[in-house]
Amino acid sequence: MEYFRAAPVRDFVYLSIQIYMVFKNTDIETITSIRQVLSERKQKIVIVPHESPDGDAIGSAIGFGEILSNFGHTVNIVTPNDYPEFLKWFGSELNIVKYDKDKKSGKALFNEADLLICVDFNEVGRAGKLEKRVTKFNKTKILIDHHPYPKNFCTFMVSEPEYSSTAELIFDVVHQIGFEKQINKNAAEALYTGILTDTGAFNHNTSRPNTFKVVSDLMKFGIDTERIQSGVYHNFSINRMKLLGYCLNEKMVVYPEFRSAIITISKEELKQFDFQPGDTEGFVNYPLSIKNIVFSVLLIEKEKFVKASFRSKGNFPTNQFAKAHFNGGGHLNASGGETDLSLDAAFEKFTQLLPKYKRLLEETEI
Ligand code: 5GP
Ligand code: MN
Repeated sequence: MEYFRAAPVRDFVYLSIQIYMVFKNTDIETITSIRQVLSERKQKIVIVPHESPDGDAIGSAIGFGEILSNFGHTVNIVTPNDYPEFLKWFGSELNIVKYDKDKKSGKALFNEADLLICVDFNEVGRAGKLEKRVTKFNKTKILIDHHPYPKNFCTFMVSEPEYSSTAELIFDVVHQIGFEKQINKNAAEALYTGILTDTGAFNHNTSRPNTFKVVSDLMKFGIDTERIQSGVYHNFSINRMKLLGYCLNEKMVVYPEFRSAIITISKEELKQFDFQPGDTEGFVNYPLSIKNIVFSVLLIEKEKFVKASFRSKGNFPTNQFAKAHFNGGGHLNASGGETDLSLDAAFEKFTQLLPKYKRLLEETEI
């Protein structure tokens, strides 16, 4: 008898602790407010991912968009610019407007929207060509993101840097606000893609059990993980593979004494290999497969600036490096930035910085 009475009490305590304990930075009031905003009436919602959206940005936008649309909201996604072909196979039929290609539609959607949801970025500048529209939007704005050091540019912010991906975080937010019944296969497929790509196909940021729990829960919606793997990773052009081979064979410079490596790619080289958006995605990870290398850098010459990508192993803080020297930021092990220097000057700057970081690089445990 005692047992039957005790069990529900224990369950209740467990559940109430869970509600308070899931997020480290987000208080219950914020979650309650988001739940209210999203549940009280049907709204016109615009979801915005960061500039040059990656799998997590697009997957989060589509995944959350599908869920909110199933609830009855009118959802449109507006991206600052285009995203790679290998992210264009989703089952979802949500409308996605690329602002740089179709400003008129993007502007109209912003003007009509009741609510703006920003996903996978931590400062408004990362919205690229949509920065001004996001800043000027004067109704409710919600941010859901996993980048450290967020700037406060939204009404409600869910910022949880422990999470592998914004997609994983959205899955938990959806449960916290009681929208889990609205998850469908299209949403699960998109959120899974976000987790897959932000962990480099489960190569990094996978130390928390929750990541795999969420993956397991998403799989219950019948998603085809092998088809997704093929869509993202087995979908490259011949030119992209040749550009990768060229970069590794002819452009990678390794500095074993600094446990670092760099690849630079010029505009001419990109043209030579008929560069398409997304073609260089993942290149920066390759040098980290070399034994003992803990810091990898990719510099790409764009029209008006040089884009830098940084990756590391262990505790080497690429985001601090990006912030201090390349006007950027991001996660500890994966960050980016840009510089107005020429490609040669940026390369030179990087090599001259290495001795300053020698000790930190030497001490990095892997
Ligand atoms: P990627 O190297 O793939 O472009 O970016 C890796 C990570 O760094 C992503 O989490 C991205 O959000 C962040 N990141 C890339 N470029 C920039 C930048 O210019 N500024 C800031 N603050 N973060 C960036
Ligand atoms: Mn992300």
